[in-house]
Amino acid sequence: MKLILLGAPGSGKGTIAQPLSIQLGIPSISTGEIFRQNIHEHTDLGKIVKEYIDRGELVPDEVTITTVEHRIAREDCVNGFILDGFPRTISQAKIFDEILGKRGEKIAAVINIQLEDEIIIKRLANRRVCEKCGQTYNLKYVMPKVESVCDVCGGKVLQRDDDNEETVRKRLETYRVKTQPLVEYYEKANLLIHIDNTLGAEESVKVILDAVSKDV
Ligand code: AMP
Repeated sequence: MKLILLGAPGSGKGTIAQPLSIQLGIPSISTGEIFRQNIHEHTDLGKIVKEYIDRGELVPDEVTITTVEHRIAREDCVNGFILDGFPRTISQAKIFDEILGKRGEKIAAVINIQLEDEIIIKRLANRRVCEKCGQTYNLKYVMPKVESVCDVCGGKVLQRDDDNEETVRKRLETYRVKTQPLVEYYEKANLLIHIDNTLGAEESVKVILDAVSKDV
């Protein structure tokens, strides 16, 4: 099963993708996480994407699409995947449709995760992430057992550089202009499932699992 998670930065895509991935037995793939990993490891890709991410802008489509193509070609994607944060532009979506089309494959559903901007801004101010494995924490609700040390891998837990309020507002604007049009794009393709994430990830995951099991 191939699923896409659509939604503004901080709407809860990553938090929903994790349990969904476990329940469905398919990997969740976050382009943002792949980019951050590359920045952390000082790779050539990391050097290219850093300036865009720091400015709250989108990484160019060609770079992003190549990254996704490489990732979904890996063995763990044979039974499907959950894309968290890709596509983010109409052009990415069209090219991705072509890539899948050539392989005789298609997207099963697109989950549109919705949350108010003011809740997003508060959530992102409190978000902390492991720089090594990407595990997410929250200052208010879920902190690592040992301060600043990841429970999962022992990596350092930090605030993402792009989670400061100024960059968050820029990312929300980028989302509105470049990514929001995808809602209509996938609505027309009859693939969209709307989720109001105000009730939290656990409830949203239940609703999504119920919808995709009926849908697919
Ligand atoms: P995220 O972790 O999904 O919030 O992504 C962090 C940053 O990575 C974004 O603000 C973009 O700069 C970049 N990024 C992630 N996914 C994409 C994408 N599909 N297209 C372009 N840029 C992306």
